[in-house]
Amino acid sequence: MTRTPLLAGNWKMNLNHLEAIALVEGLAAELRDVDFDYSKADVVVIPPFTDIRSVQTVVESEELKIAYGAQDVSVHESGAYTGEVSASMLSQLGVSYIVVGHSERREYHNESDQLVGKKAQVALAAGMIPIICCGEGLDVRKAGKQVEHVLAQIDGALEGISAADVAKSVIAYEPIWAIGTGEVATPEDAQEVCGAIREQVAKLYDQQTAEAVRILYGGSVKSSNVAEIMAKPDVDGALVGGASLKADEFSKIANFEG
Ligand code: PEP
Repeated sequence: MTRTPLLAGNWKMNLNHLEAIALVEGLAAELRDVDFDYSKADVVVIPPFTDIRSVQTVVESEELKIAYGAQDVSVHESGAYTGEVSASMLSQLGVSYIVVGHSERREYHNESDQLVGKKAQVALAAGMIPIICCGEGLDVRKAGKQVEHVLAQIDGALEGISAADVAKSVIAYEPIWAIGTGEVATPEDAQEVCGAIREQVAKLYDQQTAEAVRILYGGSVKSSNVAEIMAKPDVDGALVGGASLKADEFSKIANFEG
């Protein structure tokens, strides 16, 4: 089974809609300059909600092969949920991926594994691919308990999701101590946990599902370290924060094989 690498740029709460247009156009131009082969990797940008319509317009009018995602989704379909955005609203805008359970949402919005799992289900039901985030803090890492911590998050988030849906999904392992800090987990650290996640999916479901699910690493990924991380057998891509805000840098990450 060959899994298509996925390089996804999480813009977080950065860039207004005009800046978003400039970044997507810049990224497309950089990738065009290096004759990027879109059949060899999926390239995804994940802007704030307010930029999605503008990104859609650029992608559609210029027929770009760059996909786009959202950073969160409501578990509700519609109604009195001030400030929330539904899955159907996002799918209507051509969104293909939804990040669920990013550590910043878990921390600042108290999102539990069960809520994260529900958001993944809502994304899947609306035909989009959830990027289910997990990862340990520094205290857990120092105690050497990263694998059990992450597997407990995975058990909680995948509960009630079918094998077919898990096979389509993406799991992103992001050690919190490496996010936005410049501190990168070693390729071996990334492999240890990504490999354990795949084994856990095999245990919870079956080998075929485990072989199909894409597992990303995230945490201070840059063009200078992406290739060695991507060389690990259970790392299928990267979820990139800061470095995805620069067209030339993110294009180099997407083109990690050079
Ligand atoms: C992230 O927030 O998903 C992330 C990996 O950020 P950074 O690349 O900036 O560490």
